[in-house]
Amino acid sequence: MKCPNCSAEMIKDYEIKVHGASLLAYISLKKDKDEKQIKAAVCPKCGKIEFYTA
Ligand SMILES: [Zn+2]
Repeated sequence: MKCPNCSAEMIKDYEIKVHGASLLAYISLKKDKDEKQIKAAVCPKCGKIEFYTA
């Protein structure tokens, strides 16, 4: 995945963690019975974040 800002290679597989919640909390997308985990890619150069589903 290339960064749309600066075209650097983005680092994938970041999980979204909710601080303040107990255990390992994460946010997911849900439509009816279809549920997808949201992951993020981070650009090491400019810091842009892109979300995608696992
Ligand atoms: Zn970038």
